[in-house]
Amino acid sequence: MSDDTAVELEARLEEQESFEPPASFVEQANVADEGIRERFGEEWPECWTEAADLLTWDDPYDEVLDDGDAPHYEWFTGGSLNASANCLDRHVANGAKNRAAIKWEGELGETRTYTYGDLLNEVEAFAASLRALGVEEDDVVTLYLPMIPELPIAMLACARLGAPHSVVFAGFSADALATRMNSAESEYLVTCDGYYRRGDALNHKEKTDKGLRGVEGDVETVVVDRLGDELTHFLGKHAHDYDELVEAHEGASVEPVSRDAEDMLFLMYTSGTTGEPKGVKHTTGGYLAYTAWTSRAVLDVEPEDTYWCAADIGWITGHSYIVYGPLALGTTTMMYEGTPDYPERDRLWKLIEKNRVDTFYTAPTAIRSFMKWGTEYPERHDLSSLRLLGTVGEPINPRAWKWYYKHIGGENCPIVDTWWQTETGGMMVTTLPGIDTMKPGSAGPPLPGVDAQVVDADEEPVEAGEAGYLTVQKPWPGMLRTLYNNDERFIDEYWREYSDPDADEWVYFPEDGAKLDEDGYITVLGRVDDVLNVSGHRLGTMEIESAIVGVSGVAEAAVVGGTHEVKGEAVYTYVILEDGQEPTDEMRERVVDGVEDAIGPIARPEEVIFTPELPKTRSGKIMRRLLEDVASGAELGDTSTLRNPEIVEEIQAQVSED
Ligand code: ATP
Ligand code: MG
Repeated sequence: MSDDTAVELEARLEEQESFEPPASFVEQANVADEGIRERFGEEWPECWTEAADLLTWDDPYDEVLDDGDAPHYEWFTGGSLNASANCLDRHVANGAKNRAAIKWEGELGETRTYTYGDLLNEVEAFAASLRALGVEEDDVVTLYLPMIPELPIAMLACARLGAPHSVVFAGFSADALATRMNSAESEYLVTCDGYYRRGDALNHKEKTDKGLRGVEGDVETVVVDRLGDELTHFLGKHAHDYDELVEAHEGASVEPVSRDAEDMLFLMYTSGTTGEPKGVKHTTGGYLAYTAWTSRAVLDVEPEDTYWCAADIGWITGHSYIVYGPLALGTTTMMYEGTPDYPERDRLWKLIEKNRVDTFYTAPTAIRSFMKWGTEYPERHDLSSLRLLGTVGEPINPRAWKWYYKHIGGENCPIVDTWWQTETGGMMVTTLPGIDTMKPGSAGPPLPGVDAQVVDADEEPVEAGEAGYLTVQKPWPGMLRTLYNNDERFIDEYWREYSDPDADEWVYFPEDGAKLDEDGYITVLGRVDDVLNVSGHRLGTMEIESAIVGVSGVAEAAVVGGTHEVKGEAVYTYVILEDGQEPTDEMRERVVDGVEDAIGPIARPEEVIFTPELPKTRSGKIMRRLLEDVASGAELGDTSTLRNPEIVEEIQAQVSED
């Protein structure tokens, strides 16, 4: 291609506002029925039998939805099933014994593949081990493990016994572990000696022991030997070696415990970008049906695929779309232990090429890093096996969307921008890849059967083109059932704002702001507490960030409000440049102009601060409240859940210099 044509193509892509799914994808898509939203709307809630039918039930359910005690909705009542049997046994019985279930790539280059047959054996051996340690149905087992195969194995072993798991992200601190174990009254823990990060061994057992000192009562602990050194000196009276246990129970057969559809499958404490962690309770029937159905409809998962969601299983994305959804469908799900830039910045692309990955699902924050690093890394590899791309976690700005579309998808893969939360269990707002037009920056219409609506402060649906609050007006199978041991907080957090309890009308409020587009698509603006009030105008931080990232040379931006004598709040922007770009005054002007052009002078940034990094939570979300503290010259809030706490002081020093 000549340079001129390349520039022309780039310009065309920049201006293009909507994209149709490629014919090659449409032809084979799992969902091709253009009338599916209408049909689900008419048949609601019975439409959800389509999801339940993807599962194998021990006893059939009597009722699809029981709304007798709203908002404590129940789905598939009277039905019973076991999640591990649905993810393993039935596939083995149906001839998929030798198909790879999990393909694991270790950070140091080692690999492990578990076929469905292998995985079932290992899960049974570990389930027998847990039972021997005393685990019974309904006991909460805490799993404090990094991205190693023993994590999904332990999850499925718990599910087999009907013991809910509570996975605590391995990057969390000792205190975070203790808080979550105490909150869940969990007396069993599976952890490991350590794991690798960018080639260095991290000591995880020390952190675990510190955490355990804050937990009441004796905890039976299982320790996985990831580092391969002598474990014995770590093990106290109540600690056991994973390998020894599994060896002792090799060949055990453990009958899957039949669980009521509404029995708890797991607890997941939300990441805590805001306030105290909430123990989100998910159940066996509705959750599994919903994650299987969305994996099939949105991620287009086929049993023959190699599917890769590059999240951590410590987050809901990993639970739903690395473990439960894909395994329920009998596909090959990939797991990667390490970071995307180790040993080099092409690691993910190398893995896609090597494993011939069909579908790749990641987060906008990762895409912005790839963009910052440049196109040379994906260009080193053959990514032509890819059929579909996805994102989740925060709004994706159009420039990053297009970069992903072009440089990873080769303009040949639909992108699904999936809006959902820990609480929703699975995806809620997204295009269906085989039938919907894609609009970069807008998540899309609600999924079939999902009644998501943007409303104003008076609970009225907004007009097309207007912004308001995102709500969900009808229940769905994957929804959280309550906050563990705290029904009151469950109602306060999610069902107070827009419901009318006297009329028994319940509306779910996810605490996100959104805009309703002319065509009915929903553009998510971010959490409602991220909206600024500048001279009486309400501005979404995400909209301004998107304008800044639209300036060429900018890789990432965070926008917060700082107190301002005249305007009330003023726009402070923190900007990360692409590699090779200089933080010049000219660049600063381009950022300011970019915002003025896209939104108007009202949004004109008061300050543009260049920084090499932004403060992020362990799950990769920008911690805006700390940046607000910096902008307002206030005392810094708690930085303990940050991945990179040192950066806040660096930024602070720079702001006071200016
Ligand atoms: P916490 O609730 O603990 O404070 P959190 O809300 O960041 O943390 P998650 O449940 O992992 O924890 O994230 C869900 C939130 O992420 C959504 O409420 C929304 O704000 C944002 N989000 C997720 N996907 C998208 C998307 N595709 N577009 C826009 N925002 C998204
Ligand atoms: Mg949240």
